[in-house]
Amino acid sequence: MLRFILFFVLSLALYYVIKGFFKGLKLRKALKTGSEQAGERTRGPSQQPPPITDELVQDPVCGVYCPKRDALSLNWQGKTYYFCSDKCRQKFQEQKK
Ligand SMILES: [Zn+2]
Repeated sequence: MLRFILFFVLSLALYYVIKGFFKGLKLRKALKTGSEQAGERTRGPSQQPPPITDELVQDPVCGVYCPKRDALSLNWQGKTYYFCSDKCRQKFQEQKK
């Protein structure tokens, strides 16, 4: 009987160890895919605009950083640019004319 309890406790401990291990593995995998996506974004012009996240983007006109979801975007020559305001976007378009 004591042997059975010992076995039960041991398997329970093993279960938690495995569970923790997989949790860490999942987290590492998520981090890896996140950095891969970031690398892809800088690699070159892509057909689709990158998904809107909480990422900070720099306004090429005034140099201000703002969250991507609040920023105004402009697709110019296959590249997506982000601006803090419509004023900056218009300025950029005027510069590129
Ligand atoms: Zn700006």
